[in-house]
Amino acid sequence: MQTKTEHITCLIIGSGPAGYTAAIYAARADLKPVLYTGLTPGGQLTETTEVDNFPGYPKGITGPELMEDLKAQAERFGTQVRFGLVTKADLNASPKRVWVDETTEITADTVIISTGASAKWIGLENETRLRMSAGGVSACAVCDGFFFKGQDVAIVGAGDTAAEEATYLSKLCKKVYMIVRRGEMRASKAMQQRVKNTPNIEILWDSETLDILGKDTVEGAIVKNNKTNETRTLNITGFFVAIGHNPNTAIFKGQLDMDELGYLHVVPGSTKTNIEGVFAVGDCADKTYRQAVTAAGSGCMGALDAERYLASAGVH
Ligand code: NDP
Repeated sequence: MQTKTEHITCLIIGSGPAGYTAAIYAARADLKPVLYTGLTPGGQLTETTEVDNFPGYPKGITGPELMEDLKAQAERFGTQVRFGLVTKADLNASPKRVWVDETTEITADTVIISTGASAKWIGLENETRLRMSAGGVSACAVCDGFFFKGQDVAIVGAGDTAAEEATYLSKLCKKVYMIVRRGEMRASKAMQQRVKNTPNIEILWDSETLDILGKDTVEGAIVKNNKTNETRTLNITGFFVAIGHNPNTAIFKGQLDMDELGYLHVVPGSTKTNIEGVFAVGDCADKTYRQAVTAAGSGCMGALDAERYLASAGVH
Protein backbone atom coordinates (compact mmCIF):
# COMPACT_ATOMS: atom_id res chain seq x y z
CA MET A 1 0.00 0.00 0.00
CA GLN A 2 1.21 3.52 -0.79
CA THR A 3 2.27 5.61 2.20
CA LYS A 4 2.56 9.38 2.52
CA THR A 5 4.56 11.24 5.12
CA GLU A 6 3.59 14.44 6.91
CA HIS A 7 5.43 16.35 9.62
CA ILE A 8 3.55 17.60 12.69
CA THR A 9 4.91 19.68 15.55
CA CYS A 10 2.58 18.30 18.20
CA LEU A 11 0.73 15.05 17.66
CA ILE A 12 -2.01 14.08 20.11
CA ILE A 13 -3.25 10.50 20.08
CA GLY A 14 -6.72 10.01 21.54
CA SER A 15 -9.87 12.08 21.89
CA GLY A 16 -11.07 11.82 25.48
CA PRO A 17 -11.05 14.75 27.94
CA ALA A 18 -7.26 14.40 28.29
CA GLY A 19 -6.59 14.58 24.54
CA TYR A 20 -8.94 17.49 23.86
CA THR A 21 -7.67 19.48 26.84
CA ALA A 22 -4.09 18.92 25.68
CA ALA A 23 -5.24 20.13 22.25
CA ILE A 24 -6.83 23.31 23.65
CA TYR A 25 -3.61 24.23 25.45
CA ALA A 26 -1.30 23.17 22.63
CA ALA A 27 -3.31 25.09 20.04
CA ARG A 28 -3.37 28.22 22.17
CA ALA A 29 0.42 27.91 22.50
CA ASP A 30 0.56 27.82 18.68
CA LEU A 31 1.94 24.27 18.54
CA LYS A 32 -0.50 23.55 15.68
CA PRO A 33 -1.65 20.26 17.17
CA VAL A 34 -3.12 17.46 15.14
CA LEU A 35 -5.31 15.08 17.13
CA TYR A 36 -6.18 11.58 15.96
CA THR A 37 -9.42 10.43 17.53
CA GLY A 38 -9.04 6.65 17.55
CA LEU A 39 -12.03 4.44 16.79
CA THR A 40 -14.30 5.95 19.47
CA PRO A 41 -14.17 9.71 18.99
CA GLY A 42 -14.78 11.26 22.39
CA GLY A 43 -13.70 8.14 24.24
CA GLN A 44 -15.38 6.46 27.21
CA LEU A 45 -17.63 9.43 28.02
CA THR A 46 -19.54 8.96 24.78
CA GLU A 47 -20.85 5.73 26.31
CA THR A 48 -22.32 7.40 29.38
CA THR A 49 -25.40 9.55 29.74
CA GLU A 50 -25.47 12.29 32.35
CA VAL A 51 -22.18 13.71 33.58
CA ASP A 52 -22.89 15.58 36.79
CA ASN A 53 -19.40 15.85 38.20
CA PHE A 54 -17.54 17.83 35.52
CA PRO A 55 -17.00 21.34 36.89
CA GLY A 56 -18.72 24.13 35.02
CA TYR A 57 -21.97 22.34 34.24
CA PRO A 58 -24.24 23.04 37.23
CA LYS A 59 -27.18 21.31 35.56
CA GLY A 60 -25.11 18.38 34.29
CA ILE A 61 -24.43 17.51 30.68
CA THR A 62 -24.51 14.31 28.68
CA GLY A 63 -21.21 12.60 27.96
CA PRO A 64 -21.51 12.98 24.15
CA GLU A 65 -22.41 16.70 24.49
CA LEU A 66 -19.46 17.30 26.80
CA MET A 67 -17.12 15.69 24.31
CA GLU A 68 -18.58 17.73 21.42
CA ASP A 69 -18.01 20.89 23.48
CA LEU A 70 -14.41 19.93 24.21
CA LYS A 71 -13.81 19.12 20.54
CA ALA A 72 -15.32 22.44 19.43
CA GLN A 73 -13.16 24.28 21.95
CA ALA A 74 -10.02 22.52 20.68
CA GLU A 75 -10.96 23.31 17.07
CA ARG A 76 -11.72 26.93 17.89
CA PHE A 77 -8.01 27.49 18.49
CA GLY A 78 -6.95 25.64 15.35
CA THR A 79 -6.54 21.99 16.39
CA GLN A 80 -6.93 19.66 13.44
CA VAL A 81 -9.11 16.81 14.65
CA ARG A 82 -8.86 13.78 12.39
CA PHE A 83 -10.61 10.44 12.52
CA GLY A 84 -8.02 7.67 12.46
CA LEU A 85 -6.35 4.97 14.50
CA VAL A 86 -2.67 5.04 15.29
CA THR A 87 -1.55 1.49 14.60
CA LYS A 88 2.23 1.65 15.00
CA ALA A 89 4.81 3.98 16.50
CA ASP A 90 8.58 4.38 16.58
CA LEU A 91 8.98 6.87 19.42
CA ASN A 92 12.74 6.46 19.69
CA ALA A 93 13.22 7.83 16.19
CA SER A 94 14.05 11.48 15.73
CA PRO A 95 11.64 12.93 14.81
CA LYS A 96 9.19 10.43 16.22
CA ARG A 97 7.39 8.27 13.67
CA VAL A 98 3.78 7.18 13.85
CA TRP A 99 1.54 5.33 11.41
CA VAL A 100 -2.19 5.99 11.15
CA ASP A 101 -4.54 3.32 9.78
CA GLU A 102 -1.47 1.51 8.42
CA THR A 103 -1.38 3.95 5.50
CA THR A 104 -0.35 7.40 6.68
CA GLU A 105 3.12 7.93 8.08
CA ILE A 106 3.60 10.93 10.31
CA THR A 107 6.71 12.38 11.84
CA ALA A 108 6.30 14.49 14.96
CA ASP A 109 8.50 16.65 17.16
CA THR A 110 6.46 15.80 20.20
CA VAL A 111 3.75 13.24 20.94
CA ILE A 112 1.08 13.42 23.63
CA ILE A 113 -0.48 10.03 24.30
CA SER A 114 -4.06 10.14 25.56
CA THR A 115 -5.32 6.78 24.40
CA GLY A 116 -7.34 6.10 27.56
CA ALA A 117 -8.43 2.80 28.98
CA SER A 118 -11.37 0.57 28.20
CA ALA A 119 -13.54 -0.94 30.90
CA LYS A 120 -13.79 -4.71 30.87
CA TRP A 121 -17.28 -6.18 30.70
CA ILE A 122 -18.63 -9.60 31.63
CA GLY A 123 -19.90 -10.22 28.10
CA LEU A 124 -23.62 -10.85 28.67
CA GLU A 125 -25.99 -9.81 25.90
CA ASN A 126 -28.30 -7.92 28.28
CA GLU A 127 -25.30 -6.25 29.89
CA THR A 128 -24.34 -4.72 26.53
CA ARG A 129 -27.93 -3.78 25.68
CA LEU A 130 -28.68 -2.07 29.00
CA ARG A 131 -25.27 -0.41 29.00
CA MET A 132 -25.65 1.03 25.51
CA SER A 133 -29.19 2.26 26.28
CA ALA A 134 -28.07 3.72 29.62
CA GLY A 135 -30.59 1.44 31.30
CA GLY A 136 -28.69 1.04 34.56
CA VAL A 137 -25.54 -0.92 33.67
CA SER A 138 -22.40 1.06 34.34
CA ALA A 139 -18.66 0.66 34.85
CA CYS A 140 -18.31 3.78 36.98
CA ALA A 141 -19.95 3.98 40.39
CA VAL A 142 -18.53 7.43 41.05
CA CYS A 143 -20.16 8.70 37.83
CA ASP A 144 -23.50 6.92 38.01
CA GLY A 145 -24.06 5.83 41.62
CA PHE A 146 -26.01 9.00 42.36
CA PHE A 147 -28.85 7.89 40.07
CA PHE A 148 -29.49 4.91 42.37
CA LYS A 149 -29.85 6.78 45.62
CA GLY A 150 -31.91 4.77 48.12
CA GLN A 151 -32.15 1.79 45.75
CA ASP A 152 -30.69 -1.73 45.69
CA VAL A 153 -27.78 -2.36 43.32
CA ALA A 154 -25.15 -4.99 42.56
CA ILE A 155 -21.49 -4.69 41.72
CA VAL A 156 -19.31 -7.38 40.14
CA GLY A 157 -15.62 -7.66 40.93
CA ALA A 158 -13.29 -8.22 43.85
CA GLY A 159 -10.32 -5.95 43.22
CA ASP A 160 -9.54 -2.57 44.75
CA THR A 161 -11.83 -0.80 42.29
CA ALA A 162 -14.81 -3.03 43.12
CA ALA A 163 -14.15 -2.72 46.86
CA GLU A 164 -13.79 1.06 46.63
CA GLU A 165 -16.90 1.41 44.46
CA ALA A 166 -18.97 -0.94 46.64
CA THR A 167 -18.09 1.23 49.63
CA TYR A 168 -18.97 4.35 47.66
CA LEU A 169 -22.32 2.88 46.61
CA SER A 170 -23.10 1.72 50.15
CA LYS A 171 -23.24 5.36 51.22
CA LEU A 172 -25.86 6.18 48.58
CA CYS A 173 -27.81 3.00 48.11
CA LYS A 174 -30.06 1.00 50.40
CA LYS A 175 -28.32 -2.30 49.68
CA VAL A 176 -25.27 -3.33 47.66
CA TYR A 177 -24.73 -6.91 46.52
CA MET A 178 -21.08 -7.57 45.74
CA ILE A 179 -20.72 -10.48 43.34
CA VAL A 180 -17.34 -12.18 43.79
CA ARG A 181 -16.42 -15.03 41.48
CA ARG A 182 -14.06 -16.81 43.89
CA GLY A 183 -14.03 -17.53 47.63
CA GLU A 184 -11.66 -14.63 48.24
CA MET A 185 -11.03 -11.08 47.10
CA ARG A 186 -8.07 -9.66 45.29
CA ALA A 187 -8.50 -6.22 46.91
CA SER A 188 -6.06 -5.03 49.58
CA LYS A 189 -6.76 -6.30 53.09
CA ALA A 190 -7.77 -2.83 54.30
CA MET A 191 -10.29 -2.40 51.47
CA GLN A 192 -11.68 -5.89 52.07
CA GLN A 193 -12.11 -5.15 55.74
CA ARG A 194 -13.99 -1.97 54.97
CA VAL A 195 -16.36 -3.85 52.66
CA LYS A 196 -16.90 -6.66 55.16
CA ASN A 197 -17.62 -4.18 57.93
CA THR A 198 -20.24 -2.28 55.95
CA PRO A 199 -23.67 -3.55 57.05
CA ASN A 200 -25.53 -2.82 53.81
CA ILE A 201 -23.01 -4.65 51.58
CA GLU A 202 -23.77 -8.34 51.12
CA ILE A 203 -20.95 -10.32 49.56
CA LEU A 204 -22.00 -13.19 47.32
CA TRP A 205 -18.94 -15.45 47.26
CA ASP A 206 -18.14 -17.97 44.50
CA SER A 207 -20.81 -16.36 42.39
CA GLU A 208 -21.28 -15.47 38.75
CA THR A 209 -23.93 -13.46 36.99
CA LEU A 210 -25.98 -15.53 34.57
CA ASP A 211 -28.18 -12.73 33.30
CA ILE A 212 -29.36 -9.18 33.86
CA LEU A 213 -33.12 -8.67 33.76
CA GLY A 214 -35.17 -5.74 32.53
CA LYS A 215 -36.54 -4.39 29.24
CA ASP A 216 -35.64 -0.70 29.33
CA THR A 217 -33.96 -0.52 32.72
CA VAL A 218 -32.38 -3.02 35.07
CA GLU A 219 -34.97 -4.88 37.13
CA GLY A 220 -32.87 -7.72 38.49
CA ALA A 221 -29.97 -10.10 38.03
CA ILE A 222 -29.72 -13.87 38.15
CA VAL A 223 -26.69 -15.01 40.11
CA LYS A 224 -25.41 -18.56 40.48
CA ASN A 225 -23.32 -19.89 43.33
CA ASN A 226 -20.72 -22.10 41.66
CA LYS A 227 -20.13 -24.18 44.78
CA THR A 228 -23.76 -25.06 45.50
CA ASN A 229 -25.16 -24.51 41.98
CA GLU A 230 -27.99 -22.55 43.56
CA THR A 231 -29.35 -19.61 41.58
CA ARG A 232 -30.83 -16.49 43.06
CA THR A 233 -32.60 -13.47 41.58
CA LEU A 234 -31.47 -10.14 42.98
CA ASN A 235 -34.05 -7.36 42.93
CA ILE A 236 -31.87 -4.49 41.84
CA THR A 237 -32.18 -1.41 39.67
CA GLY A 238 -28.49 -0.80 39.02
CA PHE A 239 -25.73 -3.17 37.92
CA PHE A 240 -22.12 -2.05 38.21
CA VAL A 241 -19.18 -3.83 36.66
CA ALA A 242 -15.75 -3.28 38.20
CA ILE A 243 -13.63 -6.10 36.83
CA GLY A 244 -10.75 -3.98 35.62
CA HIS A 245 -9.73 -1.79 32.72
CA ASN A 246 -7.39 -2.29 29.80
CA PRO A 247 -5.20 0.74 29.14
CA ASN A 248 -4.93 1.24 25.39
CA THR A 249 -1.16 1.15 25.25
CA ALA A 250 -0.32 -2.12 23.46
CA ILE A 251 1.33 -0.37 20.49
CA PHE A 252 3.85 1.32 22.81
CA LYS A 253 5.03 -1.89 24.49
CA GLY A 254 8.79 -2.27 24.39
CA GLN A 255 9.24 1.49 23.92
CA LEU A 256 7.51 3.18 26.82
CA ASP A 257 7.86 2.05 30.43
CA MET A 258 4.58 0.68 31.74
CA ASP A 259 3.38 -1.45 34.63
CA GLU A 260 2.33 -5.08 34.31
CA LEU A 261 -1.23 -4.00 33.41
CA GLY A 262 -0.04 -1.64 30.67
CA TYR A 263 -0.48 1.71 32.46
CA LEU A 264 2.24 4.08 31.24
CA HIS A 265 4.80 5.30 33.74
CA VAL A 266 5.31 9.03 34.02
CA VAL A 267 7.79 10.99 36.10
CA PRO A 268 5.78 11.88 39.24
CA GLY A 269 4.38 15.39 39.12
CA SER A 270 4.72 15.55 35.34
CA THR A 271 3.52 13.76 32.20
CA LYS A 272 7.01 12.84 31.00
CA THR A 273 7.54 9.26 29.88
CA ASN A 274 10.92 7.56 29.58
CA ILE A 275 11.30 8.94 26.03
CA GLU A 276 12.06 12.65 25.70
CA GLY A 277 9.31 14.54 23.94
CA VAL A 278 6.69 11.85 24.57
CA PHE A 279 4.06 12.61 27.20
CA ALA A 280 1.29 10.44 28.64
CA VAL A 281 -1.95 11.92 29.95
CA GLY A 282 -5.33 10.70 31.16
CA ASP A 283 -6.43 7.17 31.91
CA CYS A 284 -3.66 5.44 29.92
CA ALA A 285 -1.32 6.58 32.70
CA ASP A 286 -3.75 6.62 35.64
CA LYS A 287 -5.28 3.55 37.20
CA THR A 288 -6.27 5.31 40.39
CA TYR A 289 -8.52 8.30 39.69
CA ARG A 290 -9.89 7.74 36.16
CA GLN A 291 -12.20 10.77 36.20
CA ALA A 292 -12.92 13.10 33.29
CA VAL A 293 -11.73 16.08 35.28
CA THR A 294 -8.46 14.45 36.37
CA ALA A 295 -7.87 13.34 32.78
CA ALA A 296 -8.52 16.89 31.56
CA GLY A 297 -6.11 18.26 34.17
CA SER A 298 -3.35 15.92 33.10
CA GLY A 299 -4.06 16.82 29.45
CA CYS A 300 -3.30 20.42 30.32
CA MET A 301 -0.07 19.32 32.01
CA GLY A 302 0.90 17.31 28.92
CA ALA A 303 0.52 20.29 26.61
CA LEU A 304 2.55 22.51 28.95
CA ASP A 305 5.25 19.82 29.21
CA ALA A 306 5.29 19.48 25.40
CA GLU A 307 5.54 23.25 24.94
CA ARG A 308 8.50 23.44 27.35
CA TYR A 309 10.16 20.47 25.68
CA LEU A 310 9.86 22.05 22.22
CA ALA A 311 11.20 25.35 23.53
CA SER A 312 14.18 23.65 25.19
CA ALA A 313 14.84 21.58 22.06
CA GLY A 314 14.81 24.79 20.04
CA VAL A 315 11.95 23.58 17.85
CA HIS A 316 9.36 26.10 18.93
P1 NDP B 1 -8.15 -5.94 39.18
O1 NDP B 1 -7.64 -6.56 37.93
O2 NDP B 1 -7.23 -5.78 40.33
O3 NDP B 1 -9.38 -6.79 39.72
C1 NDP B 1 -10.35 -7.24 38.87
C2 NDP B 1 -11.34 -8.06 39.68
O4 NDP B 1 -12.42 -8.43 38.83
C3 NDP B 1 -10.74 -9.34 40.24
O5 NDP B 1 -11.20 -9.55 41.53
C4 NDP B 1 -11.26 -10.40 39.29
O6 NDP B 1 -11.49 -11.63 39.90
C5 NDP B 1 -12.59 -9.83 38.88
N1 NDP B 1 -12.99 -10.28 37.56
C6 NDP B 1 -12.28 -10.23 36.41
N2 NDP B 1 -12.99 -10.71 35.38
C7 NDP B 1 -14.18 -11.08 35.89
C8 NDP B 1 -15.35 -11.64 35.34
N3 NDP B 1 -15.44 -11.90 34.04
N4 NDP B 1 -16.38 -11.88 36.16
C9 NDP B 1 -16.32 -11.61 37.48
N5 NDP B 1 -15.24 -11.06 38.08
C10 NDP B 1 -14.18 -10.80 37.28
O7 NDP B 1 -8.82 -4.56 38.71
P2 NDP B 1 -9.11 -3.23 39.55
O8 NDP B 1 -9.76 -2.29 38.61
O9 NDP B 1 -9.80 -3.52 40.80
O10 NDP B 1 -7.67 -2.66 39.91
C11 NDP B 1 -6.70 -2.41 38.88
C12 NDP B 1 -5.42 -1.93 39.54
O11 NDP B 1 -5.62 -0.62 40.08
C13 NDP B 1 -4.97 -2.80 40.70
O12 NDP B 1 -3.57 -2.84 40.71
C14 NDP B 1 -5.47 -2.07 41.91
O13 NDP B 1 -4.74 -2.33 43.09
C15 NDP B 1 -5.32 -0.61 41.46
N6 NDP B 1 -6.27 0.27 42.16
C16 NDP B 1 -5.84 0.97 43.22
C17 NDP B 1 -6.70 1.79 43.91
C18 NDP B 1 -6.19 2.52 45.08
O14 NDP B 1 -5.03 2.38 45.40
N7 NDP B 1 -6.99 3.35 45.71
C19 NDP B 1 -8.12 1.95 43.53
C20 NDP B 1 -8.47 1.16 42.39
C21 NDP B 1 -7.58 0.35 41.75
P3 NDP B 1 -10.29 -12.60 40.37
O15 NDP B 1 -9.75 -11.99 41.62
O16 NDP B 1 -10.99 -13.90 40.58
O17 NDP B 1 -9.31 -12.63 39.25
